[in-house]
Amino acid sequence: MNAGKLARGIGMTSERTRRRLIEKLREQGITDERVLGAMTETPRHMFVDEALSSRAYENSALPIGRGQTISQPLVVAMMTQAAMAADKREKALEIGTGSGYQAAVLARLFDKVFSTERIGELARLARQRLHGLKVHNVYSRHADGLEGWPGQAPFDAIVVTAGGRIPEVLFEQLGEGGVLVAPSSESGGGQELIRFTRRGDEFERESLGAVSFVPLLQGLD
Ligand code: SAH
Repeated sequence: MNAGKLARGIGMTSERTRRRLIEKLREQGITDERVLGAMTETPRHMFVDEALSSRAYENSALPIGRGQTISQPLVVAMMTQAAMAADKREKALEIGTGSGYQAAVLARLFDKVFSTERIGELARLARQRLHGLKVHNVYSRHADGLEGWPGQAPFDAIVVTAGGRIPEVLFEQLGEGGVLVAPSSESGGGQELIRFTRRGDEFERESLGAVSFVPLLQGLD
């Protein structure tokens, strides 16, 4: 088999396996076609190490180095679907860039995505990948997400992809009608995915189910 044929073969396989994953997400309750479309268009295998790329369309979290993980596709879909409830879709903020995958999915649905990562090496790799995929509306920073991104607030959606106590400042950086989606472990027990919707000075709270994220940590690495 020549190289061209081989490359096309791999492409077809990954497209088929990608579609199968999307069907699985649909069966598991992801109904927003815009989210399913964005995930169909985003090549998850480009966000993991080559050695793991054959597993990229399984519905599981995978290691991305430095003890961190790319979230399970179902969780990315849930968070993105939850973020779509925002009144506007101009500016999104992500805390925890990791591989850059969630940011790339959000970038298809929001005009601008701001994303912070506390581990410099991961931030740099994610930036390279996004650049390579010609995703030009993600602005990433090697910074502590516990501070949010004050210079760009207010945001229409804030997505926190590491679990812990949700920083107060993120509520302040949420615009009117905006949503904050975050795994919360306030009570010290397991994590619960929560969506807060801002209505004036009030925040409506909805639980979206149990989740398991790597911890939200303070300071840079
Ligand atoms: N959204 C990512 C998931 C990454 S896992 C993806 O799609 O691949 C969560 C990430 O949050 C890790 O990379 C971790 O380093 C980062 N993180 C943890 N605490 C943070 C903080 N305070 N500020 C910014 N990033 C943080």
